[in-house]
Amino acid sequence: SYRKGGYHAVRVGDQFNGGRYVAQRKLGWGEFSTVWLAYDPTTSTYVALKIQKSAAQFAQAALHEIAILSNIADGDPTHSKCVVRLIDHFKHAGPNGQHQCMVLEFLGDSLLRLIKHNRYKGLKLNKVREICKCILIGLDYLHRELGIIHTDLKPENILLCNTIDPAKDPVRAGLTPILERPEGNLNGGTTMTLIEKKLKRRARRAVAKISLRRESMGGNEPPKPERNLDGIDVKCKVVDFGNGCWANKQLAEEIQTRQYRAPEVILRSGYSYSVDMWSFACTAFELATGDMLFAPKVGQGFSEDEDHLALMMELLGKMPRKVAISGARSKDFFDRHGDLKRIRRLKFWPLDKILMDRYKFSETDAREFADFLCPIFDFAPEKRPTAQQCLQHPWINRSTSNQNEMKSKSNVEKVNVGMSNPHIKVGK
Ligand code: ADP
Ligand code: MG
Repeated sequence: SYRKGGYHAVRVGDQFNGGRYVAQRKLGWGEFSTVWLAYDPTTSTYVALKIQKSAAQFAQAALHEIAILSNIADGDPTHSKCVVRLIDHFKHAGPNGQHQCMVLEFLGDSLLRLIKHNRYKGLKLNKVREICKCILIGLDYLHRELGIIHTDLKPENILLCNTIDPAKDPVRAGLTPILERPEGNLNGGTTMTLIEKKLKRRARRAVAKISLRRESMGGNEPPKPERNLDGIDVKCKVVDFGNGCWANKQLAEEIQTRQYRAPEVILRSGYSYSVDMWSFACTAFELATGDMLFAPKVGQGFSEDEDHLALMMELLGKMPRKVAISGARSKDFFDRHGDLKRIRRLKFWPLDKILMDRYKFSETDAREFADFLCPIFDFAPEKRPTAQQCLQHPWINRSTSNQNEMKSKSNVEKVNVGMSNPHIKVGK
């Protein structure tokens, strides 16, 4: 993808926007962009630099994202709304074309990495609560104040705030600013001979080996930022507005990442802010358990969409007929009684039971968490509580030092019941 119209190749020390930002290291990438940590010497701060692929459709998409992000930044002068902040944007000319660039506040690991880091065991409920509160503040701001639907909310698109400011405490953050391209990197490979390249690769491998060994020996590399969340505020922010839209200017019919997709999107019944609430509830479950709530698969005689609807009904009960038949695609899945055509026998297993049976939640924890989530999983989108309403819920407002928290689940062995025992499907 590093060709005309594609990604811009960046090397450590590269300068952007007339020397304002200096590339430090790659933070991540998506389908449309690469994201780099960059240093701004004029303000002594670190930022995330999102560099879009250059082809016209990507530039177009970036301009849309910039418009949404500008709207978000303008309405949040105190930076308190739990949504990523756009600091600057500009165009960068490179060998592959003109790249739209976004300068964003530098954030930390995604919730997906946090879940993985925790070996898919789920986070303690007080951490889940803190994270949910942040996401809800972000969604309430987007929905109620700006009229924006995110349309791709999921753990990957929620990033933790950095607890260490790398500009103030570079050693603890494991960062020292690099202000120019390191020696030997000046010609960037284009004028290197093959032998030079080989030697360089060998040297790089040797360095990589050494640093690996050091890590495993707990050697003298700078200390890594704290990953254990005990005793710290878990603040996070919603990112990635590449698919965001204003509710009154919707662009796509098929939105959201599969596992976080709301039923009305599958049925093509039209959608609004409440699709984000559905994804939010899926995310909250995943944070607490380490497992995706819905992971549909194609099967013999039924599609991924049908499996997805069946999984939803096994958890939430039968979809009301009126809702089931309301979409442009309803006839593909449901008969006129509102029953699934190709998956006939469902195994009902409600959320509080799953939390107790499979994840060993205490009865109180399970009941309270399910009481928070279940209303959000209403098949009728207009009946789902708003982010603002969710922020009023007792589960969100419970003090974290509550007794139940002390014995709240963590590191609990999962027992293999139920979920590995899917609904009985009758394929035709
Ligand atoms: P895409 O729209 O191409 O998916 P994202 O905005 O999701 O791009 O960014 C891709 C990746 O870059 C993210 O998953 C994350 O790892 C990293 N990233 C994005 N924004 C930031 C940020 N503000 N701070 C730190 N890392 C970021
Ligand atoms: Mg993304």
